[in-house]
Amino acid sequence: MPTLFIEGRWREASDGTTRAIHCPADGALVATVDEATEEDATDAVRAAHDAFENGPWPRTPSPERAALLHRLADRLEAEKETVARLEALDTGKRMVEARIDMDDVIGVFRHFAGLAQADAGRVVDAGMPTVRSRVVHEPVGVCTLITPWNFPLLQTSWKVAPALAAGCTFVLKPSELTPSTAIWLVRTLADLGLPDGVANLVLGAGDRVGPALTEPREVDLVSFTGGLATGRRIMASAAPTVKKIALELGGKNPNIVFADADWDAAIDNALTAVFLDSGQVCSAGTRLVVEDSIHDAFVDELVERAARIRLGGPDDEQAETGPLISAAHREKVEAYVAAGIEEGAVLRVGGARPDDPALADGFYYLPTILDECSADMSCVQDESFGPVLTVERFTGADADGLEEAAVSIANDTIYGLAGAVWTQDAGRAERVAARLRHGTIWINDYHPYVPQAEWGGFKQSGIGRELGVAGLDEYRESKHVWHNTRPAPTGWFGAPQDETSTDDNGTEEHA
Ligand code: NDP
Repeated sequence: MPTLFIEGRWREASDGTTRAIHCPADGALVATVDEATEEDATDAVRAAHDAFENGPWPRTPSPERAALLHRLADRLEAEKETVARLEALDTGKRMVEARIDMDDVIGVFRHFAGLAQADAGRVVDAGMPTVRSRVVHEPVGVCTLITPWNFPLLQTSWKVAPALAAGCTFVLKPSELTPSTAIWLVRTLADLGLPDGVANLVLGAGDRVGPALTEPREVDLVSFTGGLATGRRIMASAAPTVKKIALELGGKNPNIVFADADWDAAIDNALTAVFLDSGQVCSAGTRLVVEDSIHDAFVDELVERAARIRLGGPDDEQAETGPLISAAHREKVEAYVAAGIEEGAVLRVGGARPDDPALADGFYYLPTILDECSADMSCVQDESFGPVLTVERFTGADADGLEEAAVSIANDTIYGLAGAVWTQDAGRAERVAARLRHGTIWINDYHPYVPQAEWGGFKQSGIGRELGVAGLDEYRESKHVWHNTRPAPTGWFGAPQDETSTDDNGTEEHA
């Protein structure tokens, strides 16, 4: 069965190339998909453009658009186990996590279904009784949506749901490593009656199809989630045609623990902050910033618990986290840890592949803690996107100095996606949260998010916001409509040439 979806039809790659998808947990073949060419990508953009210009979707009433999103959510509820398995096999993550991801996807589609109808624009008081002035929302146009491999369907839903809610058409390009749930999504949308050309699916390597998806002037918006280097390239390719861009580029997220924090909760959450999904989470709490007076005991306990974390694949019910996405990614994480040690970090636990023969065919890497780190080390500044925690201490001469030190370490990064502060002093928590230059701040918690709240980064973590209300605004243009109900000449450039003259007898003559 072909896996590219262009202009309402499934088709193979124009040069017949395919790609095998293997489960990162054990290397098993899970799918064979088509690998699009530049020509296929160009066709997909053309189809999305034609559907936007001539098709019904951008003009479909918002209640109908909302109804389709709800029906998609209903379908996912009904097929949750099947779709979760597709996701688990592509990513290697445990089924228990994949099921949670599916629940989140359902919530995202329902959130944007609600928003689709919620805001038709606003009437503006123009200060003139004969003028009706209003600002309306219109779809931004053709969107290229590029998504990564860590939460494939969830991150796709953050883009597809608002794009459809707003009335846009799109070309979706999921990560080449994890295409299966994107195929399910597009097939289901077509099945639910989405008009041809609104949703197009291009599978293929980013460097092969990327330019054809991000450069054409027919594309109005590129929304991308992935690495910083790719984000910069996408910005550059969007620049000549001044496209709108929305970028989510990860983070180097500080998790600040003061000495008065609830010990058990802080320890437990410091582990989930960084080791959930083996650290392949853009908001992972990879930088522990801990008050000097509790550093030794706190890190000792983390090390002891990290050493006990069980690794395993989708169906291992005892496992607590899974493999990395690919051999190449594991090598990147290994190089990152080696560089940290070279620069003076102290390896406290992990730093190697597991020696369990049952895990030998997967891309596993042990939960790793690098202690005695400082801001000048590459392991503190660069994203590893793996199960690696770096530890930095802070201290201060007095209470203010302590807060100042914690904030200064936590903000010392080019990124600004997320961060957390742990303390039982509510005033301190609020003061520190207010000064952290990151897009999401958790106080005495780590990781939860809701689709109702905006998600995105300060600084080089990205541009724009997903989710919330702003997540829909990315896919809409505002248009001001000024309606003069009693038109009259302005007289600005003098009276019109008098076409009426008077003859010598005083009789009016008309030319
Ligand atoms: P990339 O940024 O390369 O990939 C993300 C998406 O962009 C994929 O769909 C990829 O396609 C696509 N892509 C790659 N190059 C282009 C291009 N020139 N034009 C258009 N699309 C392109 O991430 P990687 O998978 O290589 O991971 C690299 C690093 O990115 C990670 O180590 C991590 O630090 C970070 N990352 C951040 C994520 C986040 O949530 N913010 C998620 C994933 C990674 P393809 O896969 O086909 O190449």
